[in-house]
Amino acid sequence: QLEQLLSELIEKKSIRKPSEHCQYQHLDDEIITGFDQEQFVVFFQPHIEVATDIVSGAEALIRWHHPTRGILTPYFFLAQIDKLGLSHLLTLKVLDSSIAACSRWHQQGMNFNISVNISPVDLVESNFLERVLELLQQHQLPAKFLTLEITESDIRPDMAKELEVMCRLRLHGIKLSIDDFGTGYSSLSQLISSPFTELKIDQSFVQKMLTDSKSYAAVKASLQLARDLKLKTVAEGVETQAEANAIKALGCDVFQGWLYAPALAENEFLTWCQHHNKKTVDEKEQQFS
Ligand code: C2E
Ligand code: MG
Ligand code: MG
Ligand code: MG
Repeated sequence: QLEQLLSELIEKKSIRKPSEHCQYQHLDDEIITGFDQEQFVVFFQPHIEVATDIVSGAEALIRWHHPTRGILTPYFFLAQIDKLGLSHLLTLKVLDSSIAACSRWHQQGMNFNISVNISPVDLVESNFLERVLELLQQHQLPAKFLTLEITESDIRPDMAKELEVMCRLRLHGIKLSIDDFGTGYSSLSQLISSPFTELKIDQSFVQKMLTDSKSYAAVKASLQLARDLKLKTVAEGVETQAEANAIKALGCDVFQGWLYAPALAENEFLTWCQHHNKKTVDEKEQQFS
């Protein structure tokens, strides 16, 4: 179905090949070949529940398994995918792979949540809600285990149609997260009238919070606001134990960062989770013996 959509897009020439950007032509061709040959793969970065130190889920992060340049992060290709008009196709592929993977984890007794990055544009593409529900149905994953992340800086004041789709997603039990909070311009009135269930503190604040008192204040105020609005909180980009301790003291639900693990291929992710959870349980048993 996705392959069909890709060929339709190419036929309709809605995949643009800007000839004025000659230096990008090569990259464009490589990206299209990459889509064709399944070189874009989803990696998973663990989410750790602060209260229990147990893995509660993962964020799906796209990687390009480039034939000669190795594994590339979105920084190298996301903007170009967008220019080519392939963003929505990418979203659908990532949703498909992520929901399938999460469903496999559930079958193995790990009831993880899966978070997937989308853009507001995805929300108003044709039948987005129906497509997401179809994927959940197809892979037998209950909707409450899926979170869709929207970056704060992508949120615009005039998003009535997007907001309507967000509300319909919520009515079906799908969760919604506001990503990189603090880096955009969403107003407080917009925040309180949007159906978000989660707030992710941007990593730029987390990484400066121990050396810059203003960043510390931003993390503290964001966590307080989220708590009062009854939003789940995730701190992203946690790299040191000192940062983790400081955030824990301010009250936060979930950690995500290199202190624990980077984004991992599915197999490595599973091995990592089993190892981490076993370590946590062993430590707790030692405490009480
Ligand atoms: P994001 O959604 O805010 O994802 C978090 C980014 O922070 C990821 O970068 C992750 O690898 C990185 N990160 C996690 N922990 C740490 C840490 O402790 N230290 C540092 N320095 N970085 C950390 P990544 O994978 O390069 O992704 C960058 C952005 O690209 C994402 O930011 C997201 O906006 C976008 N993106 C990634 N995958 C997808 C996707 O499948 N679809 C869409 N539409 N966007 C995606
Ligand atoms: Mg994200
Ligand atoms: Mg983020
Ligand atoms: Mg981001």
